[in-house]
Amino acid sequence: MNKQYDVVIAGAGPVGCLIAERLASQLNWQVLLIDKRNHVAGNCFDTFHDSGLMIHRYGPHYFRSNNKNLIEYLTQFTDWIPGNYIVKSSTGGELFPFPINLLTLGQFFKIANLDADGAQKLLEEKREKIEHPANSEEFVLSRVGREMYESFYLNYTLKQWAIHPRDLAPSVCGRIPVRLNKDERYVDHEYQLTPAKGFTELFKKMVDHPNIEVRLETDFNDIRSTIKPAKATIYTGPIDEYFGCTFGKLPWRSLEFDFQEKPVEFEQPCVQINYPNDYDYTRTVEIKHVTGQQHPHTVISYEYPKAEGDPYYPIPMEQNHLLYEKYKVLAEKETIDNNVFFCGRLAEYKYYNTDEVLELALKTFEKIKAQHGN
Ligand SMILES: Cc1cc2nc3c(=O)[nH]c(=O)nc-3n(C[C@H](O)[C@H](O)[C@H](O)COP(=O)(O)OP(=O)(O)OC[C@H]3O[C@@H](n4cnc5c(N)ncnc54)[C@H](O)[C@@H]3O)c2cc1C
Repeated sequence: MNKQYDVVIAGAGPVGCLIAERLASQLNWQVLLIDKRNHVAGNCFDTFHDSGLMIHRYGPHYFRSNNKNLIEYLTQFTDWIPGNYIVKSSTGGELFPFPINLLTLGQFFKIANLDADGAQKLLEEKREKIEHPANSEEFVLSRVGREMYESFYLNYTLKQWAIHPRDLAPSVCGRIPVRLNKDERYVDHEYQLTPAKGFTELFKKMVDHPNIEVRLETDFNDIRSTIKPAKATIYTGPIDEYFGCTFGKLPWRSLEFDFQEKPVEFEQPCVQINYPNDYDYTRTVEIKHVTGQQHPHTVISYEYPKAEGDPYYPIPMEQNHLLYEKYKVLAEKETIDNNVFFCGRLAEYKYYNTDEVLELALKTFEKIKAQHGN
């Protein structure tokens, strides 16, 4: 006879793993956690290349957060090392600190010893006076002017999305700060950390609980009619697929990763180099700068954006958002009628960083607890 589970969780990514852990340990629920891939950790999955070097299989994950409680929660499952997240952009045959900071401005405009006041004045001169930027192109022009827009943003955005920045919302390029100091870190967050043994180990430990059964290489669509949980379902897969793509498919941008071993200890000066204007790939990543692994060789990942393939980035255009809203209405009804909770990147058709999605997962757990807490 089939075991009776309290909850079935579709997707063993960060969201699925966290909710599984909370329901098992806090509500004593019997949990079935499934994933169609052959591993847990979702897109945070890291593994070992043939060389023995750790790689981030689905793109580099730079974990950062401003949430002390979240860090304390995760610290139950991992030790941390500092996140050495430094990015440079290669343009005109030179490497520049990126996001743009005082050093980038000084180097690009060939001004020695540029200070914050000088940079402010320089940007005032360079900026295009667009009061209410309506798209990413206008946003960047109004911030740093045309020369920097064309050198750092335009072609990178075209490669990444195959969409012109003038057809993308201001927030797409607006997420990247411009700094009037010499801070070279990629992000501003208070905690910039990486799990000492990697993300996969963190999430494996999170779901290592007697109440949690993990089934890999199992598609939710193959079990949804046969395994009926007693209390709830958590769905973290693509929302359109849950509803049989009844309104049409939500479009995603995909990526292909080419991992190449190099017979040198380090190939590049920092973890990531962006190539806005050269090559078909957008960036090269040498994750060894972050993992701190000691090894005589290194591995570089070349990242090629693609239209087809695994869903990585929701495409930030109005018509896609409207399509998602139609599915959201169905999802809300499904939550009320059948206790199916939709949470995460694929289920909400939204790009979230890992810390953000883990916070959402905690909120979803609290919602379920409020309804069902025993
Ligand atoms: C290229 C890239 C780079 C990123 N870099 C960063 C970064 O630097 N820092 C950061 O904080 N975040 C980063 N992220 C974001 C991070 O990957 C996500 O926030 C996080 O993985 C989302 O967790 P999730 O559980 O919602 O989804 P996912 O990690 O996608 O997990 C969902 C899981 O559901 C499974 N699934 C889907 N459909 C089914 C089904 N029908 N049946 C069974 N299982 C199913 C999938 O196989 C997957 O394992 C990056 C993402 C990408 C794509």
